[in-house]
Amino acid sequence: MASTRAPRIGVMGGTFDPIHHGHLVAASEVAQSFDLDEVIFVPTGEPWQKSGVSSAEHRYLMTVIATASNPMFTVSRVDVDRRGATYTIDTLRDLKAQRPDADLFFITGADAIAQILGWRDVQELWDLAHFVAVSRPGHTLSVDGLPSDDVSELEIPALAISSTDCRERVSRGNPVWYLVPDGVVQYIAKHHLYRSKA
Ligand code: ATP
Repeated sequence: MASTRAPRIGVMGGTFDPIHHGHLVAASEVAQSFDLDEVIFVPTGEPWQKSGVSSAEHRYLMTVIATASNPMFTVSRVDVDRRGATYTIDTLRDLKAQRPDADLFFITGADAIAQILGWRDVQELWDLAHFVAVSRPGHTLSVDGLPSDDVSELEIPALAISSTDCRERVSRGNPVWYLVPDGVVQYIAKHHLYRSKA
């Protein structure tokens, strides 16, 4: 008899300004370790914790380019198309409404999980998704004190890459080859992103 297990779907939220190989490795490692069927990348709309980011359309398109070669990776516009600031609770509610049959696994880096207790509606977050915190260079990964049924930690290959560093490198005229996918390097150049205003 065919298996009837619920689809297992990863949710990789981020500003992705730009998306880089740290994001892609995190998604790939969690997909393997948690036997996921798909990972949905969800670029934020108007980030509530960050200012001065690139337009949502630029970040969405870079995410599409970066994930295009992996059949398990898809990109959702739920946060880009929703007006106003992005809250993780809204992302998960919308994705659960679209895929009510699925078990959702929200993927975050060690830095982002540290803020989890500050999120609104934390109990509903845990009801909607299982949380997976991945290791990230420069950040201590600890889920102590969080409910172990709802939050897991996963050690992944250390890539000391951040979007902030990628932006700064481009603005200084330094290369970002091999930090971000080739198509994203070309997109950044074509659209003159992150160029110094000086
Ligand atoms: P910025 O430098 O602009 O703050 P960022 O590099 O942290 O950006 P985000 O888009 O904010 O990228 O991150 C999305 C998610 O990916 C977050 O949960 C973050 O912790 C995680 N993440 C980002 N970079 C890495 C990395 N190198 N290794 C593991 N996780 C990462």
